[in-house]
Amino acid sequence: MGNKASIGVTGLAVMGRNLARNLARHGHTVAVHNRSGQRTRDLVEEFGSEGQFIPAYSAKEFVESLERPRQVVVMVQAGAPTDAVLDEFAGLLDDGDVLVDAGNAHFADTRRREAALRERGLHFVGTGVSGGEEGALHGPSIMPGGSKESYESLGPLLEDISAKVNGDPCCAHIGPDGAGHFVKMVHNGVEYSDMQLIAESFDLLRTALGYSPARIAEVFRTWNTGRLDSYLIEITAQVLAHTDAATGKPFVDIVADQAEQKGTGRWTVQIGLDLGVPITGIAEATFARSLSGHADLRAATRGLAGPSRAPLSGAEAERFADDVEQALYASKVVAYAQGFNQIQAGSAEYQWNIDLGAVASIWRGGCIIRATFLDDIRAAYAEEPNLPTLLASGEFRRAVEDGQDAWRSVVATATRLGVPTPGFSTALAYYDALRAERLPAALVQGQRDYFGAHSYRRIDRDGTFHTEWASDGRPEHRLDT
Ligand code: NAP
Repeated sequence: MGNKASIGVTGLAVMGRNLARNLARHGHTVAVHNRSGQRTRDLVEEFGSEGQFIPAYSAKEFVESLERPRQVVVMVQAGAPTDAVLDEFAGLLDDGDVLVDAGNAHFADTRRREAALRERGLHFVGTGVSGGEEGALHGPSIMPGGSKESYESLGPLLEDISAKVNGDPCCAHIGPDGAGHFVKMVHNGVEYSDMQLIAESFDLLRTALGYSPARIAEVFRTWNTGRLDSYLIEITAQVLAHTDAATGKPFVDIVADQAEQKGTGRWTVQIGLDLGVPITGIAEATFARSLSGHADLRAATRGLAGPSRAPLSGAEAERFADDVEQALYASKVVAYAQGFNQIQAGSAEYQWNIDLGAVASIWRGGCIIRATFLDDIRAAYAEEPNLPTLLASGEFRRAVEDGQDAWRSVVATATRLGVPTPGFSTALAYYDALRAERLPAALVQGQRDYFGAHSYRRIDRDGTFHTEWASDGRPEHRLDT
């Protein structure tokens, strides 16, 4: 009979290898396989002592080494390679077996793959995994989609290897088909937003106070002991404190200022538009990266006139760092509020029934946006599962209201000094738009009705109306009677 593996991992590049090692370190027997055998040999040679691995050099041998129901984690390049590998394994598996795509797939692809594999009698689990290669090895945040039945066998294994916060695993069943990859996508969008806000804080402290990167690292370290305590703030302090060995200059000053963006930020914005969710923070963060990369545009406009950038002085300078902390916190509340609204909208659209509190809970550890703050979000949804927005929840509402003067002052200072703060500005605009009694959208409706007869609704009567703008009397017609 021989020893069989409780789970298998195929695709042993950095992520797959580390996930397999994490499983083995937790006492699970893991079958390992890779298209080219060398990675399999290397894994067993270098890390074989960490646990029980069953190396396999063909797909058939790999599948045969697994206990039933077989559980196969595919960790290969996203896109066509994933389709090819899923197709190959689907042909070798039996009814009730579980195929897991732990790569960064688009949730629409996951929905398509799930439907096709269900037809073939297989459970397909598209799962988000966040935390990079270190997380995969030491405990990532895991966001599995797929059937409840598949989670019964797979869930305990994934929970076992996930990060833990106060003993709770950072892994929970998110919902059917593409739900897990959708939530991972939004996680990455929120990550974009958070990173942009932190970067703007740095830019402001440097310009408005004339602080060095090392001194700003100190400011971030202090912030990291309070409500902003998070992995991203922690690594920001480390990056800012780092000196380039070759030049002796601050590292941040020798790096080309053109940020890259892979697929997930872009997908989040695209889907936000499709679902009609105003995720303005994520969109601005994505566009800010894109703008930074337009060397041609930036070169063509270098030297355009701007205001004096004389640093602040006196009382304004004294309270500025604290004001930026408040602006950062308030903007961060908005960014996360928008991200959670996007998950809510996706869940409603695809009938996933996602538990937002559970999402906040599993983002508390292991993933890139892990933060103390997420425990407050978890608590807010625990108290009120149908919360329309985090901005309406007691704690967050109070914090943002208390911080609004500082927030406005920071955005005003940024504008005055000519420091671009699209993240802070859009977050504040979102806050002001939500709380506004009347929005100029009324005028936009009038314009639309004028040039396109798009109609409008009135505040004092039910129905849909159109005004005959071309006729002198401009009579109004009710259209829906
Ligand atoms: P990767 O560079 O995306 O992919 C390399 C792996 O894919 C290798 O094992 C390679 O096999 C295999 N592969 C490529 N084409 C194949 C094909 N047609 N048939 C069979 N195998 C094929 O690896 P990675 O960085 O470890 O990432 C794996 C997945 O995790 C990706 O979807 C990625 O987006 C996602 N992810 C990555 C991170 C990260 O921090 N890197 C974080 C979260 C999620 P060979 O060795 O034979 O070439």
